[in-house]
Amino acid sequence: MSDPLSSVIIPLLYLLSAVLFIFGLKGLTGVRTAQRGNRLAALAMLLAVVTTLIELGVVDYRWIAGGLIAGSVIGAIAALKVEMTAMPQMVALFNGFGGGASALVAGSILWARIVEPGSAGTASALLGADSATTAFLSIVIGAVTFSGSLIAFLKLQGTIGGQPTLIPGRHVVNSLFLAASLVCGVYLAFFAPTPGELAIAALVLGALGLLLGVLYVIPIGGADMPVIISFLNSLSGLAASMTGFVLGNNLLIISGALVGASGLILTQIMCVAMNRSLGNVFFSGFGGETAASDSREYSNVRSYSPEEAAMVLESAESVVIVPGYGLAVAQAQHTARELGDLLEKRGAKVSYAIHPVAGRMPGHMNVLLAEADVAYDKLFEMDAINPEFKTTDAVLVVGANDVVNPAAETDPASPIAGMPVLKVYNAGTVMVIKRSLSPGFAGIKNGLFENDNTMMVFGDAKKILQELVNEVKSLAA
Ligand code: NDP
Repeated sequence: MSDPLSSVIIPLLYLLSAVLFIFGLKGLTGVRTAQRGNRLAALAMLLAVVTTLIELGVVDYRWIAGGLIAGSVIGAIAALKVEMTAMPQMVALFNGFGGGASALVAGSILWARIVEPGSAGTASALLGADSATTAFLSIVIGAVTFSGSLIAFLKLQGTIGGQPTLIPGRHVVNSLFLAASLVCGVYLAFFAPTPGELAIAALVLGALGLLLGVLYVIPIGGADMPVIISFLNSLSGLAASMTGFVLGNNLLIISGALVGASGLILTQIMCVAMNRSLGNVFFSGFGGETAASDSREYSNVRSYSPEEAAMVLESAESVVIVPGYGLAVAQAQHTARELGDLLEKRGAKVSYAIHPVAGRMPGHMNVLLAEADVAYDKLFEMDAINPEFKTTDAVLVVGANDVVNPAAETDPASPIAGMPVLKVYNAGTVMVIKRSLSPGFAGIKNGLFENDNTMMVFGDAKKILQELVNEVKSLAA
């Protein structure tokens, strides 16, 4: 106990790492500080990994260096290669691995301390009731997170259909499996009398967890997948925290709790922005019953050329650009900023309106516009910009659909009823750039496209914006 490395230095390094994690998270709450926050969190993780390996003292330093290099290369390639629009899938995969790792570590502790030495007695008697309980929770939550995240990944990747798969009687079936896993977990922690039975109970519990993950995620439509990914992120943190209790590792307890809490807060933010409850996301099978809207539902749509749209922009004194998922797909953020700058040079006031769930993850549009160097003071959140639309001459909706759909306010039967939307319809002229009359994420008709003050400019967002830039330049010449 007198060894200063284990009694002083290692706990201090863990504490430093936990503090860095907290400051890292704090940094991530603001656009300006996000990069620094990310670096602090990465440093905290490096410190945590190295400290753990030093504490264990069983790993050769060459393995530590090798592992760090291999992990860094994989992480760097993933970060550079993955498109912004595919970020939710990547997060899903990372969550899944995190959950799976927690379950495996908890299982390996049971193996190393009870099964392998053939110790007689229950897990609670041998490890203590707290460690036995957290081991069982870690196995089941980690397994649910692993399989649920893989299903979420496959749905978003399009490998399996994004439509909800609604098994008849699924609520009863899911409840039965949930009850079975609880019974199995309690048996594992408190009653399994021999190492052999404990091992079988752990395996059955892991299998039940895997099954539960699939059963809970498969009925959820692709549209709700980002919310589920955020929730699974929270579960992966919870599983890690539980494993921290089993291992007696304070840093894992703290960092797992941070992930658990922040994932839950993000889930809540997304649910509020869509005016849905988490229960509704989980159990309604949203996106399954209604057939996606198609162009035949529209009767009064007016299509304009980029040249005609440019003439409206030319004379507008105030312009609001509303980016959506289509802008991200087309990678049109730089061209949008170029157009905004051009209009500004011609004397117009240009702002960008950000809906909290525009795109496919929270902050998606902020990140894209920041990448294109749009000044932060030109970005306005929904509540700030909504009152301004009445006095705005022209709104340019670029690849956004659901987030500007007035049905959310006017049609109580709409799947997005009650979701707060950008009230672009109040502006003098609304220009909508998209390729067709295809619906957005929610799969529903958008009455905005039929309004008298709406101009549809059909085409790929980047191509149309480039044509607008060229037209505005030529009008000015
Ligand atoms: P939507 O998904 O409603 O609409 C995107 C539109 O972009 C489509 O109608 C599509 O029309 C158009 N589009 C696609 N590719 C291009 C392209 N290359 N050029 C031009 N247009 C293109 O996006 P929004 O951003 O308006 O709304 C986000 C949706 O995602 C909401 O329903 C939200 O609830 C949901 N969601 C968001 C989450 C988040 O955290 N951000 C989380 C969970 C769900 P067309 O094919 O005709 O071009």
